[in-house]
Amino acid sequence: MKKDIVIIGAGPAGIFTALELIRKGSKKSIALVEKGAAIEHRRCPKSVTQKCVNCKPCCHITTGFSGAGAFSDGKLSLSCEVGGDLPDLVGADLVQSTIAYADSIYLEFGADTHVEGVTDGDEIRAIRKRAIAAGLKLVDCPIRHMGTEKAQKIYLGIEKYLAEHGVELLFGMECVNIILQDSICKGVTLTDGKKDLEIYADETVIAAGRRGADWLEKVCAEHNIAHQSGTVDVGVRVEVRNEVMETVNRALYESKLIGYPKPFKNKVRTFCQNPGGFVSQENYDNDLAVVNGHSYKEKKSDNTNLAILCSHNFNEPFNQPIAFAQKVGELTNMLGAGHILVQRYGDILDGKRTWAKELARSNVRPTLPDAVAGDITSAMPYRSMLNIINFIQAVDKVVPGFAAPETLLYSPELKFYSNRIKMDTHLNTNVQGLHCLGDSSGWTRGLMMASVMGVLMGRYLL
Ligand SMILES: Cc1cc2nc3c(=O)[nH]c(=O)nc-3n(C[C@H](O)[C@H](O)[C@H](O)COP(=O)(O)OP(=O)(O)OC[C@H]3O[C@@H](n4cnc5c(N)ncnc54)[C@H](O)[C@@H]3O)c2cc1C
Repeated sequence: MKKDIVIIGAGPAGIFTALELIRKGSKKSIALVEKGAAIEHRRCPKSVTQKCVNCKPCCHITTGFSGAGAFSDGKLSLSCEVGGDLPDLVGADLVQSTIAYADSIYLEFGADTHVEGVTDGDEIRAIRKRAIAAGLKLVDCPIRHMGTEKAQKIYLGIEKYLAEHGVELLFGMECVNIILQDSICKGVTLTDGKKDLEIYADETVIAAGRRGADWLEKVCAEHNIAHQSGTVDVGVRVEVRNEVMETVNRALYESKLIGYPKPFKNKVRTFCQNPGGFVSQENYDNDLAVVNGHSYKEKKSDNTNLAILCSHNFNEPFNQPIAFAQKVGELTNMLGAGHILVQRYGDILDGKRTWAKELARSNVRPTLPDAVAGDITSAMPYRSMLNIINFIQAVDKVVPGFAAPETLLYSPELKFYSNRIKMDTHLNTNVQGLHCLGDSSGWTRGLMMASVMGVLMGRYLL
């Protein structure tokens, strides 16, 4: 097959590349290749089975049209300070103006017009005052909340639009490698598990998401694509009753707090806060089970969950950050017999595991029913664990009750952003004809930033 442009991965980064090309009147032939299913066929069986059945060949939560975005909470962060380091590559002003543009597209396809976290009221001032006293930074970030169920409708609209405008959508096809001739990228090799297919293209765009980060690292090593190992985040998903979080939930929806707790002074931050939300599990292809969280627009739980993440940067001679985080995850999965582990904060401080019967005594009930009560400290590196404990103590000064003995910590929460691809400001790699976008490029870590990178890619390809 021959196309002008082949895009690998139908997450927000890949989708917005195709969308921008079409919206700007491009007549180029485009193939969008996705190893998962079309959005209308994405269904997580857990809503029926109540537990993760580890779908093969792909997890429906993270693969398929709209990528990790379909079943995500659908929170669009409208500040260039949040969602990755793209501003360092192309400039903060360009990213901020493109956020406004990408946001207008989400609105066109039906996103809620309401924006959270824009008021500058007394409540926010009081929260910031407490954060300052606790040694934490409160980041301002307006948020448009699509909600999990609404996000799927919006992305379905975009999928139909792309198909109607001639983009060839190839589902159930996995990219196994790129085709290089005389050091120039000429396309990709795909497989559907039975037969292989080659697509030749003038421009190849890889937007394979977090799940593709590991694969892309191997492709980079094989073809000398310039990259540097970056950060991985190791952390936990924290769950408390809504009453504990009600002030920040009301004033900010999402409180983005950053700290550098002693003794290590590594960056520790809150991430992906879900008021009235649900803790969820995602499975990677190598059977690694990791925890996440989301919230629906209508259906609400009694709890709020959020991630606390510690950034890990490594120096020579070590250069395998993804493998490091995977080992932490595997060890935790091993202790939980393949399940997510959950432990009460008070038990961590007391140096004991949590038992299932103890969970039942608390005010807070886990919203991930198949999480196994146990001891996350047995698998968590000392540095990460101490960072998390000290950060939780600081957050308790901003949100009294956050460090209560019954607060739940789920593990492993891992974010693989590493392997940052080296590119120029027009998103060209050192291999002619090859571009890398979104979370797998190491430059983004959120829906909006990935969408923005896609828009910019579309414009540069024009
Ligand atoms: C449960 C959950 C909740 C989240 N909530 C939020 C949120 O509220 N707000 C926010 O900003 N972010 C959230 N995120 C993160 C957000 O979804 C991602 O940052 C964003 O989707 C990244 O976009 P992307 O296009 O780079 O990659 P992805 O969305 O991951 O898409 C990549 C696509 O590439 C496909 N792919 C991978 N490898 C191959 C291959 N070899 N061949 C073919 N196809 C391939 C995958 O199947 C996938 O569909 C959440 C993530 C999860 C998992």
